[in-house]
Amino acid sequence: NSVFDHVVMGPEDPILGVTVAYNKDPSPVKMNLGVGAYRTEEGKPLVLNVVRRAEQMLVNDSSRVKEYLPIVGLADFNKLSAKLILGADSPAVQENRVTTVQCLSGTGSLRVGAEFLARHYHQHTILIPQPTWGNHPKVFGLAGLSVKTYRYYDPSTRGLDFEGLMEDLGSAPSGAIVLFHACAHNPTGVDPTAQQWEQIRQLARSKALLPFFDSAYQGFASGNLDTDAQSVRMFVKDGGECIVAQSFAKNMGLYGERVGALSIVCRNADVAGRVESQLKLVIRPMYSNPPIHGASIVATVLKDRNMFQEWTVELKAMADRIINMRTQLFDALRSRGTPGDWSHIIKQIGMFTFTGLNSKQVAFMTKEYHIYMTSDGRISMAGLSSRTVPHLADAIHAAVT
Ligand code: PLP
Repeated sequence: NSVFDHVVMGPEDPILGVTVAYNKDPSPVKMNLGVGAYRTEEGKPLVLNVVRRAEQMLVNDSSRVKEYLPIVGLADFNKLSAKLILGADSPAVQENRVTTVQCLSGTGSLRVGAEFLARHYHQHTILIPQPTWGNHPKVFGLAGLSVKTYRYYDPSTRGLDFEGLMEDLGSAPSGAIVLFHACAHNPTGVDPTAQQWEQIRQLARSKALLPFFDSAYQGFASGNLDTDAQSVRMFVKDGGECIVAQSFAKNMGLYGERVGALSIVCRNADVAGRVESQLKLVIRPMYSNPPIHGASIVATVLKDRNMFQEWTVELKAMADRIINMRTQLFDALRSRGTPGDWSHIIKQIGMFTFTGLNSKQVAFMTKEYHIYMTSDGRISMAGLSSRTVPHLADAIHAAVT
């Protein structure tokens, strides 16, 4: 008898579980379009050249030791990460009113931010878009916040439900926290336009809503780091406060290194200092301090003008390959005469296409074509290649006819 006999088997994670099922499938034509990780045209994971170079430099530097980082992480990394998302000339950074702490990738940054808010922010309601990344409700809920949703996606247009969004934010309790995807909304691939962001900003500020940005795809959406940060910068420019969780998983390909940052933009330097002291009290009992290797890679790349430049080129190549896959899939469906309007495939932004396929059609494609994706019909464009597009197009065609 075990003292754990009463423990029931938990369900597989809806996203990571797709890979578990994929791994079990012996078919040679199987495709994994579930998980959000970049693959090359050959279907292989990619380590950026600039990352390899930074790692070599770190290894060759014999003065480097493995001491603990401070609770808030690597100072250079924090400063450079804030500048990357807020802009090199951001007044908020120059005025020292941004506190940045290194966290365990995007997820860890969201969680530390949520724990801080649950302890120190007067309003515990957080509105998240419907739909959103499946981990959001759990991260915020387990931190003690009360999770509500706002309308975001309109299935009839496969685009933004802007009216619904504005209505729901308009009727949110004053001071509520609102989660925004900085760019490349996951899973829909649908982002507000610059004009819509401006209207959202005005509404959010007029109701004193606290914006919490999740930036998991900076540079990965458009291929340009500044373009993908525009939504965040708009909210910082007005002098108001906001929170940003950054991940270097996708844009630097550092998935398993778990590198991310949480920045809290405050009204003034005095508040920022006190906020940072409380972030340390959140982090210390959770994991003490963050790992050193990944953050050192990022700091090495961001610090050096040439390496930074090299990174932007490699980043754009990843973004461009994904955009190219959109065109290829769209063309393949058109040439098959697949019924329906598939233009959302080329309109949507970022790593994913929200195909509009339902769970029955997804199950059919998995069973008959060995194509794995989440049951909401989201496919990772990064997992596609010119070689595999025809197989996917055949499967979609068969699923909808
Ligand atoms: N937020 C969004 C919207 C994501 O899509 C992801 C990853 O899939 C994350 C956050 C967090 O990723 P990580 O913790 O690997 O940085």
